[in-house]
Amino acid sequence: MRMSRYFLPILKENPADAQIVSHRLMLRAGMIKQVASGIYSWLPMGFKVLRKLENIVHEEQARAGHIAILMPTLQSADLWRESGRYDGYGEEMLRMKDRHGRDMLFSPTAEEMVTDIFRSHVSSYKDLPLTLYQIQWKFRDEIRPRFGVMRGREFYMKDGYNFDLTKEDALHAYNRHLVSYLRTYERMGLQAIPMRADSGPIGGDYTHEFLVLADTGESEVFYDAAVTDIRMGERDIDFSDKAQCQGVLEEFTSLYARTDETHDEALFAEVPKDRQRSARGIEVGQIFYFGTTYSDPLGAKVMDETGKPVPVHMGSHGIGVSRLLGAIIEASHDDNGIIWPEGVTPFGVGIVNLKQGDEEADTACEALYKSATALGLDPIYDDRNERAGGKFATMDLIGIPWRITVGPRGLKNGVVELTSRKTGVSEEMTPELALEALAKTYASL
Ligand code: ATP
Ligand code: MG
Repeated sequence: MRMSRYFLPILKENPADAQIVSHRLMLRAGMIKQVASGIYSWLPMGFKVLRKLENIVHEEQARAGHIAILMPTLQSADLWRESGRYDGYGEEMLRMKDRHGRDMLFSPTAEEMVTDIFRSHVSSYKDLPLTLYQIQWKFRDEIRPRFGVMRGREFYMKDGYNFDLTKEDALHAYNRHLVSYLRTYERMGLQAIPMRADSGPIGGDYTHEFLVLADTGESEVFYDAAVTDIRMGERDIDFSDKAQCQGVLEEFTSLYARTDETHDEALFAEVPKDRQRSARGIEVGQIFYFGTTYSDPLGAKVMDETGKPVPVHMGSHGIGVSRLLGAIIEASHDDNGIIWPEGVTPFGVGIVNLKQGDEEADTACEALYKSATALGLDPIYDDRNERAGGKFATMDLIGIPWRITVGPRGLKNGVVELTSRKTGVSEEMTPELALEALAKTYASL
């Protein structure tokens, strides 16, 4: 992409209404525009990152054997009456009537809708296990929308639902989700800690929330510092292997890590003093096992091996895809702007031409731009007639992890400068070597 042709409406001033850094930087970098309280348009760069996150979620769900569907944002109230949640859900549910006076609602979650799909089409244990998921906009009429996409009213969420014959199988689905979520966050450059949580209106006995530590997080959390040393890393997981998935659950959840809702002072006191931590965290996902809470009232049954109809065991699993943008920026920025982790960056490399209009510099930049594109590095080339300082500031603000700076002086010696956004360290090398290094870096992700 050429910067001169892109739509990147950068703000010079700090927006007054943005209280936290991620909200401020998303507005300043021209990623989102508020439409109404808690409702945003996604401008090109914001949308590009959102789609990258979505792709990672899809890839990791596929790896775990889960199957994508898409359900509507608008639902009829009837299913929610059947499950008994219509009246209980409260003011967060946006309700409306269609022209025939039928009660409709904007989906805040979709347990009922997916259970209805299931009961219409599945009747035998032979079709299990089954996990269906979607990535779709949700609406919750939050009492206090704030912090930009972190607590929106309309937000993009991955919601998955498992259907299993037995509790044991459903707990395997729970563990599979835990493993795939941990992989998902790590690919996004985030460390999210699974913590024992409260099940709230979804119900059920088993639930973990995934929290990214950040001072601006809305949740208060308590944990054993040793949990922050555990990573999924490169391990090769066989998702169909129950023991392996259970092993990961135990490894990540055996140490104390809880949100304030389930915090237990007496248990926490057993953690060695020097490892006790209390902090703030951003909830980026949650998994639940709730058994037959929805399958019972909605009559979602299958025939078991003996031909007896039994209600299926279910769980649901959510990732806040749009909130993740905010969480990633909270976890990765400096005074100059965003620092995108390589796995989610909107562009792989920024090319800065120090002397636009200089024939040699322009030619070298065009050649670099072409080669970087051919290598799949998805470059953004700042070809505007701006001073170098302004170009650097823009690249820093929008957070591109690598910058190649091209100027007449370097070109005399056949070199350009490759700079890391994160460390600020620059190295001179030939354009070919710079591209080779970047291609290697991205290929290893
Ligand atoms: P919270 O406690 O933050 O209100 P929740 O527990 O009600 O969230 P879930 O039903 O578990 O949310 O939804 C799954 C994920 O969707 C959450 O972990 C969070 O990342 C995201 N999410 C929930 N509400 C919002 C919101 N208002 N804006 C953006 N993302 C949200
Ligand atoms: Mg939650």
